[in-house]
Amino acid sequence: MTDNNFWEYLKEGFLSLIYPLNCENCSRPIRESKGYSICDDCLQQIKFIYFPYCYQCGKPFSPEVDFEAKALCADCLYRGHHYYFVRSLAYYEGVLRKCIHLLKFKKQVKLVKPLANLMINYLSRDELINIKEIELIIPVPLFKDDHLKRGFNQSGLLAKYIADYFSIPFSEDLLIKIRANLSQVGLSRIERKKNVKNVYAINSSMLQKQHNISSLLLIDDIFTTGASIEACCKELKKIGIEKLYVFTLARGV
Ligand SMILES: [Zn+2]
Ligand SMILES: [Zn+2]
Repeated sequence: MTDNNFWEYLKEGFLSLIYPLNCENCSRPIRESKGYSICDDCLQQIKFIYFPYCYQCGKPFSPEVDFEAKALCADCLYRGHHYYFVRSLAYYEGVLRKCIHLLKFKKQVKLVKPLANLMINYLSRDELINIKEIELIIPVPLFKDDHLKRGFNQSGLLAKYIADYFSIPFSEDLLIKIRANLSQVGLSRIERKKNVKNVYAINSSMLQKQHNISSLLLIDDIFTTGASIEACCKELKKIGIEKLYVFTLARGV
C-alpha cells in the first residue's frame, strides 16, 4: 500500500463511521463494510434475460411468441456474425446499470465478485455454452491509456474471476486495443462499424503461447450495439479460433 492509498484508506474508514454507507439503489444503510454500495436485496432485483432470444446474437424476443430454440433475428439471418453466439446475463437497466456505473466510474471493484458469481451461475447451468469446451477466456480490451486512467479493465476483472473459478486459462494480452475511439452511443450503424475499424488487433508476441485454440469465451461488461464485439471476433477468427462464444454481464437490448 502506498502512502497515498494508506491515507485514503484511513479517511474512508473514518468517514464510514460518521456517515454509514447507504445502498445507492434503495438508500437503506449497509451495515457491513463490503467495499461497494449496493445491498444484497437490491442485487437480487437484477432482471435476468431468459429465453426466447435470438440463437446467435442473443437479442431478446417477445415472450408471448412461441420461438424455436435456434430461431434467428432478421439481422443474424441476413448478415451473419464472426461469433458463434452471444449471451448476456441481464438487462442493462435499474440496479445492474447502477452496479456497472459504480464499478466503472466510482471504482467499486469489490462489486466484481458478486457480479461475476451471477455470471458463473449462468455459465454453470446453461447447457448452451459448454464451459468444459472453452480453452481460453479473454476480455474485450481497453486502450492502454484508458486502462491506465481507470486503473483496471472491468471486463478483465470479471473474465479473470470467471476463468479462475472454472480453472480455465485466461489472457489479457492476446487481443489488444491499439487506438482510442469514440463512444458508440448515438452513432449510426455505418458510423459504429467505421468507429471500431482497425481498433483491435492480435498481439503477435502472445500468439505462440496461445496457439491451436479452437474455442474461446470473450467477456464484456455491456453489449450495446455489438460492433466492438464483432470487431474483436473478426480479429480472433483470423488466427483460426473456430468457436467464439461471447458472454456479457449486461445487455442494452
Ligand atoms: Zn438496496
Ligand atoms: Zn440475432
